Parts: sequence; structure tokens; C-alpha cells
Amino acid sequence: KANRKFHPDDTVVDVGGHKIGGGYFAVMSGPCSVEGKDQIIGIAQRVKAAGASILRGGAFKPRTSPYSFQGLRAEGLELLQEARAVTGQPIVTELMNNEHIPLFLDAKVDMIQIGARNMQNFELLKAVGKLKIPVLLKRGLSSTLEELVMSAEYIMAEGNPNVVLCERGIRTFETSMRNTLDISAVPMLKKMTHLPVVIDPSHAAGIAFMVPALAQAAVAVGADGLMIETHNDPAKAKSDGAQSLTPDQFDALMGVIRPELEFFGKTL
Ligand code: PEP
Ligand code: MN
Repeated sequence: KANRKFHPDDTVVDVGGHKIGGGYFAVMSGPCSVEGKDQIIGIAQRVKAAGASILRGGAFKPRTSPYSFQGLRAEGLELLQEARAVTGQPIVTELMNNEHIPLFLDAKVDMIQIGARNMQNFELLKAVGKLKIPVLLKRGLSSTLEELVMSAEYIMAEGNPNVVLCERGIRTFETSMRNTLDISAVPMLKKMTHLPVVIDPSHAAGIAFMVPALAQAAVAVGADGLMIETHNDPAKAKSDGAQSLTPDQFDALMGVIRPELEFFGKTL
């Protein structure tokens, strides 16, 4: 179902009225984790003003250490809904297991993120395949593009065609960045599939200074969107502060991206 051979036209996924793919470019931005009401609403207002169409924020967080902040969980989903009520932006947030699906439906989450660590959680993929909600499927830390496409296939085979693929950096021998952004994934995935492909330079780089350069590269190589972590006070962030842009830095990045998108004929 994901194969370009059988569906030559680009798929356009609609997330709460904002299109991704087929010439439509979407910027998703917000904090790694929802940390509180003022924090999420404040960031939502700033990223919206800068041009982000979708608000991201983690409520349930997949952390390497069990002693790290695990997210505000159900309360985080409520705060995302409050932010959406204020700014009107659709929300994308990570679903970590099947049991949480009712909570996500109650919260009317506009787009469900399947995180890198769950890319091959096949029961979770089947479950979101039974929904109609758009899915942001992130590439696993050590997954091939074929495996990513097969995971999309799991979702689509159950009846949900609204899948957006996300390259977020992979593990390589290089240690100077958190991960290595596989920029080649964009043209290759677009050749293999008709699905929109977005780049998450934040998790790829792991360092804020590199995010704008990688975001520009993503546009140049034909990505359909970006996911960028933005935090009001990165130094105090409860997760992924090192890679988070400040709202001012995000605003500056959007200023660079806009003419580039125009040059490539993409609609923001
Ligand atoms: C995130 O988006 O904050 C996240 C945990 O992403 P990934 O699954 O790509 O590590
Ligand atoms: Mn993060």
C-alpha cells in the first residue's frame, strides 16, 4: 500500500486542516516534553506566530533511564488540549502503548506519533492502523528504510492511509552528534513510497546549533516537513534541552526556511 509503483501520486495527509505532502510543507514544533500549562501555552503561541502549523509536545516520554522525567502523562494530554484551544493549532504527541489509546481518543489528538523506539512494536502499529487519525512514524534508531516502510505498511494494511514518515537520525560510528541525520532517506523514501517524509533535525543532531543547518538541508533535499524541538528555557528543560531551540532561534530559523520553501515551490 505504501509502494510508489502502485500509487504514483504523492499522498497528502491532512492534520487538523493542515496539509503535509504533495507540495504542502508542515512545520511541527514545541517542547520535547509538556512541562506545565504556562510553558506549553507560551511555546505554542510563539511557534505559531513564527509559522509552525502543528504543536508538538510529549506527554508520555520514552526515556533511556527509568529515573529520568517520564512526562506528565494524562495531565500532559490535557495541557496540550488547552494549548490547542488557545492557539487553534492541531497537536501531535507520542503514543507508547495500546492501553493509552482511549486517552488519546478522548483528547482528540490530531496526529499520533510512534516514536523511534516503537517503530517495530507491531501490535501498536496494528492498533493505530485501525484508527483514522494521522500517524507520524519515526524511523527506529537502527532501522533500515525498508523496515520503516514495512512498519508503515502495518498501519496502512489495517485501513489507515494517513501515515507520515519521519527521519530522525540513526546510530552510526560517529559520536560527535547524538545521531547521524540520514539525509539520503528523503529522496530514497520518496522513490520507494508515495507517503510524505519529514525530517526531525533536533533528535538527529542532539545539539541546538546544528538544527538550523540540517533543517535547511531537509528543505533542499525535498522533505515535506520538519519537526523541531523548541523550549522556553532549554537549559532547564526536563528532556532534550541541549537540542532545543529558544523561541527566538526558532523564529530566526523560520525566517531562513521561508524563502527557501518559496524557491522550491512549497506551500507552508
Ligand atoms: C521525541 O520526539 O521527543 C522523541 C522521543 O523522538 P524519538 O522517538 O525520535 O527519539
Ligand atoms: Mn525529544
